[in-house]
Amino acid sequence: MIPLAVPNISGNEEAYLQECVRTNFVSSVGPFVSQFEAAVANETGAAGGVATCSGTAGLHLALTALGVSRGDLVISPSFTFIATANAISHCGAEPWLFDSGEESWTLDIDQVRDRLAAESERFGAELRHKRTGKRISAIMVVYTLGHPGDMDGLKKIARDFNLPILADGAAALGAAYKNKPLADLADLTVFSFNGNKTITAGGGGMVVGNDSELVNRMRHLSTTARVGEDYHHDAVGFNYRLTNLQAAVGCAQMERLEEFVAKKRQIAAIYNSELGEVAGVKPFPAARWASSACWFSGVSLEAGITKSLNEVCNKLKSRGIDAKMFWKPIHMQAPYMRAEREEMATTEATWERVLTLPCSTSITADEQAYVIDAVRSVIGH
Ligand SMILES: *Cc1c(COP(=O)(O)O)cnc(C)c1O
Repeated sequence: MIPLAVPNISGNEEAYLQECVRTNFVSSVGPFVSQFEAAVANETGAAGGVATCSGTAGLHLALTALGVSRGDLVISPSFTFIATANAISHCGAEPWLFDSGEESWTLDIDQVRDRLAAESERFGAELRHKRTGKRISAIMVVYTLGHPGDMDGLKKIARDFNLPILADGAAALGAAYKNKPLADLADLTVFSFNGNKTITAGGGGMVVGNDSELVNRMRHLSTTARVGEDYHHDAVGFNYRLTNLQAAVGCAQMERLEEFVAKKRQIAAIYNSELGEVAGVKPFPAARWASSACWFSGVSLEAGITKSLNEVCNKLKSRGIDAKMFWKPIHMQAPYMRAEREEMATTEATWERVLTLPCSTSITADEQAYVIDAVRSVIGH
């Protein structure tokens, strides 16, 4: 089977793991955690980073640090992985779901601006949702497939309505936006180091930001809000720390970020050039403003294509190719069917057409050529 996206563990991972074992630093104390935080902060131009045990934990920690609390609404796209919405729920808040734009499959900021103008009102320092009376406390944007959103536009909205921006950049490490450092695009940005991401730590996450006070507050909250060496705690904290073992893998992976992202972009470029011209097939979107980290590659099949996407996936699987459909929108998921939401024209027209194809950084040219031939033949060209 040619896998969809598997880890590429062929650098210093083993040596660094042995160092953890040799020095007995296998848990949340040890030099690799801070080294990993520094590497990611440096890469993204952030003042600091806080490593967490998963991307989801990072999102929860970041929302908490930004003040999202029980009963709030948090603006977020419906076209995302369910962890985005779950992190909002873990705060006791609810997502207010928006469509995504066609040019990037990221948050439709025109819709956000219009609906905020029509449906919100100020009450002193608070912004409230008129119909429900709920406090609107943050905007979440998701860098879909590793592609940053229209952040200059979103920042203006955030300023106008006085809302913080949290970027779920889970798979966007290595992406670029108008030559600006990733950390400058939002108040806080979260990455995931799950096994299917470009850079993995086995599992893990990281929150980066430019406000050092906020970063320190997150570090405090992520380590049970402990004060001093004894059992004093000054807030309801979390145990969200990454272990030194995971960070050791993360450090070895970070040494190869540039190489991995270049390979991901090359894989995407090959699929685009080989399949982009096939009738009924469209490449994934790429907006002018951004250079995607190309976490996942694949194609979008137009409505006219005869077979259902499920059938295409099954036929590819029978040829030894792990091809998959992509995110099912949040408003179609059982826990969120009754969430506050806006029109979903693009999301609903898009999600069932997205076919993700093998794109591990270890894929060979022969394997990718085999996938391309199989896709052509399965969709009937
Ligand atoms: C992978 C991913 C997450 C979750 O990260 P975990 O480390 O698996 O918790 C969240 N959001 C998006 C967009 C992702 O792709």
